[in-house]
Amino acid sequence: MIRYSLKCADGHAFDSWFQSAEAFEALETKGLVSCAVCGGTDVSKAMMAPGVAKRGEAAPPAPPAPQAAPTLTTPANPMEEALARLRAHVEAHSTYVGGNFVREARAIHLGEAPERMIHGEAKPEDAKALIEDGVPVAPLPIIPKDRST
Ligand SMILES: [Zn+2]
Repeated sequence: MIRYSLKCADGHAFDSWFQSAEAFEALETKGLVSCAVCGGTDVSKAMMAPGVAKRGEAAPPAPPAPQAAPTLTTPANPMEEALARLRAHVEAHSTYVGGNFVREARAIHLGEAPERMIHGEAKPEDAKALIEDGVPVAPLPIIPKDRST
């Protein structure tokens, strides 16, 4: 079965089902397709608007939109990109010591611990004290990724 949107000479628009495109052509040629409104037989196929659902018809399901990449892990600008690279470099080449950072940094500085790059967490006042003691520490850039965790 095939459905056509039809229109008569008077401009009445209506839909009608046909066995096939050939069947429609045959009926139309014989003048057997008549307007549903006025009965006129001067009927032609209306312009089709594929993809546009008529009122009352279910629209074809739209393909699922691709999941947007989480923006929090995507550096938003060159500055953040540079910071992210710096951070990634530090994280790749240094040992994470977490909350022991202050003690470890001081131990390394004093030669009580093997010399190595470390990173971890320190309270601002502790980091300041380290710097005042001549321990070379630098704050790691906080990138947006961190704020989500
Ligand atoms: Zn009509």
